[in-house]
Amino acid sequence: MDKTIVKNFDIAVAAREVAHMIRAQNPPKPVCLYGVPRGGIPAAYAVQAALNRIGHPCEVVDSPEASHFIIDDIIDSGATRSRYALYGKPFFALYEDMGGGWLVFPWEAGDSDASAEDIPLRLLQFIGEDPERGGLQETPKRFLKAWQHYTSGYDQDPAEILKVFEDGAENYDEMVVVRDIPVYSHCEHHLAPFFGVAHIGYIPAGRIVGLSKLSRLVDVYARRLQVQERLTNQIADALVEHLQPLGVAVVLECRHMCMEARGIQRQGSATITSAMRGLMRENIATRAEFMELLR
Ligand code: ZN
Repeated sequence: MDKTIVKNFDIAVAAREVAHMIRAQNPPKPVCLYGVPRGGIPAAYAVQAALNRIGHPCEVVDSPEASHFIIDDIIDSGATRSRYALYGKPFFALYEDMGGGWLVFPWEAGDSDASAEDIPLRLLQFIGEDPERGGLQETPKRFLKAWQHYTSGYDQDPAEILKVFEDGAENYDEMVVVRDIPVYSHCEHHLAPFFGVAHIGYIPAGRIVGLSKLSRLVDVYARRLQVQERLTNQIADALVEHLQPLGVAVVLECRHMCMEARGIQRQGSATITSAMRGLMRENIATRAEFMELLR
């Protein structure tokens, strides 16, 4: 993940901009700021310092009701801002947008992963667990490490994996089928695992790949947040793009924890999705041959 360490100087510059925006609204003297816990609190003090510097008295107060303005360090999802909208106070943040990266503020630095560890730690608190309990003490660290692995596909390039072997394939135009490639992914709606197998078939047009690479290709797309339909299509489209075969068929059979564990889907029943391209789509006999090979 891209991390940007925000420097104290950057905070001062951002706080000065917010201070000018606040002063432009002709607020009372002193103007009262409320900082959204936790990151908004140091941000509010930075804005207070900036207001004092331009000659406007300011206090940091303990409740949103007592404030004229609500201050946060960053507007990431916008969820915090909408939660505070009920107070009807103008809301300012030092940063409006993370620009796709992960900002680490000076008050989080030193141990820059610590701010990410807050997320699983807060989750443990949310479900009523005691994060200090022996078995859970290392859980936030382990959780982040596991999630880095589950989502490591974002950093991988299918083109790199699908480097093509042409040797020996010039005259090979029979269907290649690989069955039961393991799939481990996570649904983007519940962040819950879904897992099962992929079956891939293609009809080469002079280009073939090593069989183990098909399995790595599946991993590239499975190790992202997914829906099964998109995962199926992405595997098929990558094969079309990088192998330019005459036809591609991808079938996924996966069990979804979010559906089974919540009783929405029967235990052990798989969701089946397929993506057909080229001859596999157009030619019924070819598709039937592929389906027959899957039996
Ligand atoms: Zn789900």
